[in-house]
Amino acid sequence: MNSPFHPGTLDSLPFDNRFVNDLPGDPVRENRRRQVTEACYSRVYPQKVSSPDLLAFSPEVAEIIGISSETCKTSRFTNLFSGNKLIPGMDPYAMCYGGHQFGSWAGQLGDGRAINLGEIVNNRDEHWTLQLKGAGSTPYSRSADGLAVLRSSVREFLCSEAMHHLGIPTTRALSLVTTGEQVVRDMFYDGNPKEEPGAVVCRVSPSFIRFGNFEILTARGETDLLQQLIDFTIRSDFPHLGKPSTATYLQWFNEICRTTAEMIIHWMRVGFVHGVMNTDNMSILGLTIDYGPYGWLENFDPGWTPNTTDSHGKRYCFKNQPHIGQWNLLQLANSIYPVINDAVPLKESLALYNDIFQNGWNEMMAKKLGFTGFKPESDNNLISELTTILPLVETDMTIFFRNLAELDIHSEPQNREDLPAPLTESYYRPEQLTEEYKNRIGRWIESYKQRSRQEKLSREERHRKMNRINPKYVLRNYMAQLAIDEAEKGNGAVIDELLELVRHPYDEQPENKKYAARRPDWARNRPGCSMLSCSS
Ligand code: AMP
Ligand code: MG
Repeated sequence: MNSPFHPGTLDSLPFDNRFVNDLPGDPVRENRRRQVTEACYSRVYPQKVSSPDLLAFSPEVAEIIGISSETCKTSRFTNLFSGNKLIPGMDPYAMCYGGHQFGSWAGQLGDGRAINLGEIVNNRDEHWTLQLKGAGSTPYSRSADGLAVLRSSVREFLCSEAMHHLGIPTTRALSLVTTGEQVVRDMFYDGNPKEEPGAVVCRVSPSFIRFGNFEILTARGETDLLQQLIDFTIRSDFPHLGKPSTATYLQWFNEICRTTAEMIIHWMRVGFVHGVMNTDNMSILGLTIDYGPYGWLENFDPGWTPNTTDSHGKRYCFKNQPHIGQWNLLQLANSIYPVINDAVPLKESLALYNDIFQNGWNEMMAKKLGFTGFKPESDNNLISELTTILPLVETDMTIFFRNLAELDIHSEPQNREDLPAPLTESYYRPEQLTEEYKNRIGRWIESYKQRSRQEKLSREERHRKMNRINPKYVLRNYMAQLAIDEAEKGNGAVIDELLELVRHPYDEQPENKKYAARRPDWARNRPGCSMLSCSS
């Protein structure tokens, strides 16, 4: 092999650290908390840890960056991805960014506990940045410790991979390492701090640039640097847009509106609630990023948020996500305005976001129902009636849609007393199924069957099509908690089991049926299973 690329070894990984090579960094080299101006990042080293232990890794992500699974099992790998060692070519840094948190400008935030190791160029000539989360404090750590606890790291590791396999744009997770250190957290913010095991996740993404990277520069009036960062982003991650110019900037913003809309449509498709859609948690590539107090809709409650910090305002609840996406894009538009100086086209892109979202949502819902495409004359009503009916009683979203494929669309209208068997599995509280409810969903089912017959699909085709869009397995909130309970005892087996499960979310996997069932009752109100705090 003449290629400079030798999969399997760590020391031959080729780095090309464009972000630090092309953009100005912080001239101050001290790692102390402060405002960092006129710079896009600060160089900083990960903190060494006492006894790193590899709990899990993702073979697919290892493959992307050219590392074999065998290599992932070596102590060198564990040392590297706990932050204890660096390899030649790495040039670690923390990014400077700001953000709007819960609707208000929060000033400088930055990578407070994330340290980018460098950008690997893989054998497909793609750049992938490696980032340790929980690897110690940086100039951006503010009043926090720069660390991460095991429970939040397990959640990030598993969910990144689950989302990817569901076909949803996301940052990835290479590894999960426990550090052997204890980290103090007040999980419920109730004055009862406690020691928890620390961990480091290595996240992997083509870029970790967020809306907030641009916002901070504009907030500080650093327009030259803003332009430099925009040009860099276009050159690195949007090369198809061509040479940076005002026209290119507008196309770029348009594309961000589109990819953000597409990402959120996917979230709505599978019932994912991000939980903290602050602008510092919005990827410029339209990737799902920063898995904190996220959750999955179990019963279809559009007003649900997993984030206890948001339980009153519910700003980031399931149904608000599309609108918040646009609000965040508006903040991005404001922050790039100084290099465009024309609000009209930016507003047009923001309006386009609505169209892209609405059309995409209609198409997505039509497909979930097993239709080839959205037909407004029938489907508008069908979809809006369904989304009104589902929250009336506690209905498991994943099971309902998955089982819809089992419905016999050629059957005679049923007695309203009996709901079709495939759907009954999705109800949490049979006592809620009143006459009135049964009549209403019964009417919906008859219209739905009629519309489905127009598709003229065989039973098998319909089944196959629907099962490709309606997952059988999602990372139910309680499942991540089961993995955490075991991981806290030093056992990574449930993480491995769930990682394997979420690698094939659309397959039947009869051996894993228990994970396709409704959330068990014990998990209804258990912390970590239904509600999560931001403490991580
Ligand atoms: P989040 O909303 O969790 O993505 O975090 C918001 C900001 O707080 C980001 O700038 C994070 O880097 C920072 N942050 C969160 N947790 C910690 C921590 N334990 N130590 C330092 N910074 C943190
Ligand atoms: Mg964040």
